[in-house]
Formats: sequence, structure tokens, C-alpha cells
Amino acid sequence: MTSYCYLNLSGQDGKIVSTNDAHISISDIGLLRGYGVFELLRTYHGKPFHFKEHYKRFVASAKALGLRIPVSENTLKSIIKTLLVKNKFPESNIRIVLTGGKTINGMEFDKKNPTFIVLIEPLHEMPKSVYTKGVKLITHQYQREFPRAKTLNYLTAVSLGEKRKKAKAFEVLYTKEGNVLEASTSNIFIFRKGKLSTPKDDILIGVTRNCVLTLAQSAYDVDEKTISMKDLLSADEVFITATNKAIIPVVQIDGKKIGSGKVGKHTRYLMDMFAHYTLHYTHD
Ligand code: PMP
Repeated sequence: MTSYCYLNLSGQDGKIVSTNDAHISISDIGLLRGYGVFELLRTYHGKPFHFKEHYKRFVASAKALGLRIPVSENTLKSIIKTLLVKNKFPESNIRIVLTGGKTINGMEFDKKNPTFIVLIEPLHEMPKSVYTKGVKLITHQYQREFPRAKTLNYLTAVSLGEKRKKAKAFEVLYTKEGNVLEASTSNIFIFRKGKLSTPKDDILIGVTRNCVLTLAQSAYDVDEKTISMKDLLSADEVFITATNKAIIPVVQIDGKKIGSGKVGKHTRYLMDMFAHYTLHYTHD
């Protein structure tokens, strides 16, 4: 089946093309040096979820790397709208990628000519069991470079894939000096004594994280703060959040049971709240 994407290459106007005809230069600095940023959105009922928040983060990521976004917010919105109609997937992932474009000498790039891609993929749903049974995590000491930016650098995450699978873990949780940061593609939350907390420093500020924080405020005492490994392992409940995951309960970390080792009642409550929110979501 033909699918369509938007591509804006060095010195060319952007256009919608079949993904089979979409090619980037072999001297793109995104390929040669991994120099670029991206966003991943998803649709609910065919509409991009929290577009404005994703766009804001995209602008901040691009700024952190000195990259220029070649289209306005409104143009990007209408590109996405057109692509969603053309691709006709029931629900979609929307991947927006920006690199420095063709490199000049392997290290430099021309700010005026970035590579900019909007890709639409059919939504990859997580298996139902992760929501009903919860998942395991393994920990790894690591802090992402440019932690506030959504860069293309997932070297640690990808290279730990084998280790993660061997441990039957769903995600790798990054730690630094005895504190918890974020998972390789998710944010983390803990419930302790009925209070909800999530880290705020040296992490990517997830759009799902912020949405969950806002929703949770109506029912819980909520705090953004440093979380130690000790706090984490003695938490009553733990869960992770991300665009492609929503809220996924965590029941084991490095082989240690969290709380009862089952999906907790507060996590379940927030999962229901989030599901209700997405069901009725209609705007940016
Ligand atoms: N941290 C990292 C490192 C991520 O890659 C992601 C996924 N984008 C998240 C957190 C969660 O962010 P969001 O809720 O915006 O998907």
C-alpha cells in the first residue's frame, strides 16, 4: 500500500511524496553525525493529540541544536492534516524529523537548508497485557545529552535492547547518582503514601507526563521533584507515560517487586481518567 510523507530537502521546496520516492542525501548530517531532532505525536479519533505542546517542544529542541524549522506552525498543521487524509490509517503516529541537512565538511551545515520530514505511520498499539499485568524495568546509569531536547540520539536505548529483552523488561530506566531520571522512551511517576511524584530535572518533559500531571491534580497531591532509587523501590505504585504508551503500570524494577507486584488502584484510576480524557479529546 502506498503511503505518503512530506519532505523538504536542501535547496528544494517541500512537497508531499510517496514514501517510496522520499530520499535524503547520503551526506545528510542527520545520518553522518546523528545531528537532528524529532517529535512523535499520535492521533485519537484521527486528530493529532496535543499538537500545540508537541510543536512547542519541537521549537525548543530545534533551538537547542541551532536548527531552523522551515515551515510555520500553521503550515505544519495543514501538512499533517493533508497527510492524515491521504494516508487513511484508522489511527496514526506522526513523526516530524529535522536535521541540519547536507553537511559541508562533515561537521558543519547550512542553517538555511535543513532536511525536514513529516512521516505518517499506522499507530503501533502496545499489547493489552502491559496495561492489565504491568511491566518490568531494568535500570541503567545514564543521562541523555541535551536532556530537554528530543534529539535523534537513542544510542544507549537501542544498544541496551538485547539486555532488556533478556531480562524480559519493557523499558530501561535511566538513573544518575542514585536518582531516577526517565526511561529510554518514557517518563516515570511514583505513588507514595497517596502522593504522586515525578522527576523534573535532566529529563525530556513529556507531553503525556504534563497531561497526566494536570489530570491527576484534581484527585491527588502532585509534586515534581527529585526521586531517589530508594523512594522508587519503596513506592506503593509506579508507572511510565509516553505518547505511544499512555500510562503503563510498572510492577517490577531490577527484579524487585513494586508494592504488591500488581497494578495498583491509583494507577488504574489515572489510566481510566486518561482514557476518558482521550475519548473526549477534540482540540489541540
Ligand atoms: N523521555 C524520552 C527520552 C522519550 O523519548 C519520550 C518519548 N517521546 C518521553 C520521555 C515521553 O514523552 P511524550 O510523552 O511526549 O511522548
